[in-house]
Amino acid sequence: MSGKRKQVSRRGFMKIAGTAGLGSLLVPAGAAVKAQAGALTSGPGQMVVPRRPFGKTGEKVSILSLGGVLNPSDQLMFRQAFKMGVTYWDTADSYKWGKNEKAIGKYFSRFPDDRKKVFLVTKAATSNPKKLSETLNTSLQRMNTSSVDMYFIHYVTNVKKELTREVKAWADKAKAQGKIRFFGFSAHKNMENSMLAAATLGWIDGIMMSYNYRLMVTDKMKRAVDACVEAGIGLTAMKTQAAFSANFYSSIGSETDDALKLTEKLIKKGYTAEQAKLKVVWDNPNIASICSAMPNMTILQANVAAAVNRTQLSGGDRQRLEHYALRTAPGYCAGCATICESAADLDVPICDIMRYSMYHFSYGDRDTAVRLFNALPTEVKVNVRNADYTKAEKRCPQQIRIGSVLRRLSENLS
Ligand code: SF4
Repeated sequence: MSGKRKQVSRRGFMKIAGTAGLGSLLVPAGAAVKAQAGALTSGPGQMVVPRRPFGKTGEKVSILSLGGVLNPSDQLMFRQAFKMGVTYWDTADSYKWGKNEKAIGKYFSRFPDDRKKVFLVTKAATSNPKKLSETLNTSLQRMNTSSVDMYFIHYVTNVKKELTREVKAWADKAKAQGKIRFFGFSAHKNMENSMLAAATLGWIDGIMMSYNYRLMVTDKMKRAVDACVEAGIGLTAMKTQAAFSANFYSSIGSETDDALKLTEKLIKKGYTAEQAKLKVVWDNPNIASICSAMPNMTILQANVAAAVNRTQLSGGDRQRLEHYALRTAPGYCAGCATICESAADLDVPICDIMRYSMYHFSYGDRDTAVRLFNALPTEVKVNVRNADYTKAEKRCPQQIRIGSVLRRLSENLS
């Protein structure tokens, strides 16, 4: 990417931040405002998102990554993201049943020269080598490309079981065939364990994991990040807003109030609470990029404004975020599934179901929540209702009333 990166003035940043306001990420995606297409332009002086090295790959990636929520009709979003230097694009074969990959393919068929400037990532939810080959070929075809820059196994929960020697052999072969350049995985739960284990393997190029102002402060996450950096693994943060509260049935409103108070303070400093949550993650130079769902131009603008703005968070800003994290900790599912799932008397993917509900209650995407919940085996759905969660609740560090939350979710999503 060429062109001198332009630092946005404080006034310019406020203007853009103000456009996004509270709507940038706390508002569910489905309710977000559709901004006018021509709101941003390219050309001299265009804001360009900075880039950072991605592990030991030798690649530099944009510190903001375009998450996979766009449809084939959203071509202008891809175009504008590209023009603003958001050149790390993330998708998965499953997103929108393949429509997101097709949307990317449509873009590359129109702008083939842009393909080599985009760091393209897709994922497969399998660690079966045969299925990996099939899924990768489908993804390449959909995206109108002969190779992807990074291929992730989606949603790894057990590195030993899922990242086997056979998978390594498959990744080596796919690299030799020129179909993938780098290989890694995404982790939504027990992230720290997976990261620590991956750092010992020696053949993982990148990891995308849940990482935010709540999770990044724990000793275990700090150790996990250090281990990955030492191993040369490039890190992408996701779920950086951490806005979800599992105690939504009784706490609706309280988190919003806290968010409003936080926002009020931060907006005086020149950014929104949502932008502050991005900035605190970028504060860690070991995080190469933040993958963010940006379903409309308003959110794209707000996130780009945060990425290009060089104003550092002050000690007070960090403190405010920390206080907010502490006040709203009860109810935030931190993904530490080994703690609760081993304590329930029946087999229930507690952490997964919390995540499904996040799609509904935090992102406004009920369809995905319902689809994922109803894809659970029948016996597991029965277990959700019948399990004894007493021990799990006692162990849960976030004080989530797991039993009542899961039973009500089961009613709601069935
Ligand atoms: S122990 Fe609590 S915070 Fe951790 S995954 Fe289970 S429900 Fe979520």
